[in-house]
Amino acid sequence: MPAANIGPELQRLIDLLARMPGLGPRSAKRAALHLLKKRDPVMRPLAFALIEAADKVSACSICGNWDSIDPCAVCREQTRDESVICVVADVGDLWALERAGAHKGRYHVLGGLLSPLDGISPGDLSIGALVERARAEKVSEIVLALPSTVDGQTTAHYLADQLIGADVSVTRLSQGVPVGGELDYLDEGTLAAAMKTRRPA
Ligand SMILES: [Zn+2]
Repeated sequence: MPAANIGPELQRLIDLLARMPGLGPRSAKRAALHLLKKRDPVMRPLAFALIEAADKVSACSICGNWDSIDPCAVCREQTRDESVICVVADVGDLWALERAGAHKGRYHVLGGLLSPLDGISPGDLSIGALVERARAEKVSEIVLALPSTVDGQTTAHYLADQLIGADVSVTRLSQGVPVGGELDYLDEGTLAAAMKTRRPA
C-alpha cells in the first residue's frame, strides 16, 4: 500500500522498480532513493539508456538473440559452424554459453519453456522457426541446452518429437543446466564439458 507521504512521481518510480525481477517493494524504495541521490551520474544516464534500449534493441529475426542490429552480431559471425544449432530457453543462457566459449555454432532462443501450469504452450515459443531452420540443408545437429526441470524436460521431449523427420541428430548437454538465465551459475569449465560430452536427447 502506498505511503500517504510519498509523492505520486516517486511512488510511480518505486512501483515500476518493484516490477523488476528480484526487487521487492523494499529494495525498490532503496533503489529509488539511491537514484535520486545519484541523479547526474546514474539516474539521468539510466533513463536515457532505458529509452535507447527500448527503441533500438530487438529480437534477431534468425535466432531470437537481443541486439541493435538484425541479424544479430552472433548470427553475422562468418566463422561459426552452421551445422550445429544450440537451443536455449532465454538470451541469458546464450550469453552464458558465449562467455564460457562452450559453443562455436549457431543459436536458437525459444523465449521460454513449455509450462502447462503457467499456460505456456508451443504457440508461445519460437518452435516453428526452429523446425524450419533444422530442415535447412546445412544443419546436422540440434543441441538442446535446456534446464533439467520438469518444464525443461517437457520442452526437450516436445522439441525432439517436432524435429523427427528434419534429418538432424538431436542431442542434449550431459548435465542439465539451471533455469533460464542462471546458466551463469555453472562455471565455464563445467559448461564447456557439458557441451563437449553431449548425448542423444
Ligand atoms: Zn541472431
